[in-house]
Amino acid sequence: MRHSMQNRPLLISSLITHAERVAGDSEIVSRLVERGSEFATHRYTYADAHRRSRQLANALTRFDIRHGDRIATLAWNGFRHFELYFGVSGMGAVIHTVNPRLFPEQITYIVNHAEDQLLFFDLTFAPLVAKLAPLLKSVRGFVAMTDRAHCPEIPGLTVWCYEDLLSAETDDFDWPLLDEQSPSSLCYTSGTTGNPKGVLYAHRTTLLHTYAAMSADAFCLTSRDAVLPVVPMFHVNAWGLPYICAATGAKLVLPGHALDGASLYRLFEEEGVTLSAGVPTVWMGLLGHMRTHGLKFSSLRETVIGGSACPPAMIDAFEDEHGVTVLHAWGMTELSPLGSMCRLKLKHLALPKPARRAIQAKQGKAIFGMEMKIVDGDGRALPHDDVAFGDLMVRGPWVVEQYFREEHSALVEGWFPTGDVARIDADGYLTITDRSKDVIKSGGEWISSIDIENLAMAHPAVAEAAVIAVPHPKWDERPLLVIVRRAGADLTREDMLAHLSGKIAKWWMPDDVVFATELPHTATGKVLKTKLREIYRDHVLPSTAAR
Ligand code: ADP
Repeated sequence: MRHSMQNRPLLISSLITHAERVAGDSEIVSRLVERGSEFATHRYTYADAHRRSRQLANALTRFDIRHGDRIATLAWNGFRHFELYFGVSGMGAVIHTVNPRLFPEQITYIVNHAEDQLLFFDLTFAPLVAKLAPLLKSVRGFVAMTDRAHCPEIPGLTVWCYEDLLSAETDDFDWPLLDEQSPSSLCYTSGTTGNPKGVLYAHRTTLLHTYAAMSADAFCLTSRDAVLPVVPMFHVNAWGLPYICAATGAKLVLPGHALDGASLYRLFEEEGVTLSAGVPTVWMGLLGHMRTHGLKFSSLRETVIGGSACPPAMIDAFEDEHGVTVLHAWGMTELSPLGSMCRLKLKHLALPKPARRAIQAKQGKAIFGMEMKIVDGDGRALPHDDVAFGDLMVRGPWVVEQYFREEHSALVEGWFPTGDVARIDADGYLTITDRSKDVIKSGGEWISSIDIENLAMAHPAVAEAAVIAVPHPKWDERPLLVIVRRAGADLTREDMLAHLSGKIAKWWMPDDVVFATELPHTATGKVLKTKLREIYRDHVLPSTAAR
């Protein structure tokens, strides 16, 4: 029997069309990347963005771009990147947002793997493009995202100028009524081991993710917000924020390449930002700058922190020093990316502060549409009692089924194995204890590196901390704590061990504490534990030396 309802496809073009209709005068503010104008901003409206996205679609048609063709970007968060999000997907092609922080060999690999036809780049990346262009086999056009005055010359390469391409076109373009299952965008995981893997999103999956992620128990984003995504548009579609902002008509503030504490703070204040999102490392820089200069936020209401575990000390700093609520979120490229977000329930509101904070430090509840379970080594489901921990499996309409151009399904009996180890409590709140590759296996038991790192980072002298496994003759592996001290702070190995003592089980206590000037990070801001393990592979633990 056929139902009574319309069968309208869920399309990305509908987001920008809607934004123009209901929030045509709402602003998109971008910090310009062009040299010499670090603090200059560009401002226009959703109506302007929609018009220019249609001009871009005409320009792409002139390049003979067809449905499903991949278009690469190497770009910061800015208005032209925003136009590419809608112009490329809207006309039926696929936007492939390349992470410029990857190693050049990885960039070459993914552009060739994706068979990108055109590459749009911000000026910052002109030297990178000059170096890689001869290796990028499928790319038949390079477009500098700037105006004629700033367009770079790259010897031996024809570089198109974005503004010239647009000004040659009219905005007379009707978004095609695509099949909602058509691919729309492509992101690669940063692949700390092996080659990066591509996740090809569809219009339908992107729209469903948008509906779920904008809802009140998730981002809770409205037309009254001014949103500054610090998370880059090359990191899983800036966690979906460009789409969510278009759906709500929220003001969008795009920081370009200036991600240092001083530049970000100035933009937050000048543009009255109410909501932001980013990985913990970025906030460390911003909070540090604000602390040093005695600065406060005047408009920021909430910030979403994810990508790696948000240390409870950071949640405290935002809330106690600035009155800003931290929403801890968990997700991954394979999940478009949002899986869970931590917002308190009604029954939690009356709890004393420490109990509330303990819940806020968790990665939160699955957003509607996302199903989660934890399993043991034999695939048996474990209870949601906040004690049992195991491999986290997920399924849902915006979860990957098969990596781009891989032959086999990525699923195990219909579920996607995330590679994360987690606990879930009776209220459905998730706690990530580790990446399964980073778990420390001591005497057959598992030690959570994240739990120890969170405690270490609660010490005022600690800027950053990481716990890794070091081989041990008796216990197989034992934890080693690596610490970056805050500038000017004094902290010894013994101080740290005393700080941890009594807060964790005795057998979880790190066997040693070492100090480093900085920790290595991945292209998406996570501590690169593979590298750390390599650095400290031959570290002799006092417990081993004593044997
Ligand atoms: P990449 O490897 O390219 O950075 P993702 O951004 O997809 O890819 O990384 C996803 C992984 O990041 C998750 O599987 C998890 O290990 C980690 N992660 C994301 N958010 C959190 C969080 N809030 N707490 C702990 N780990 C997180």
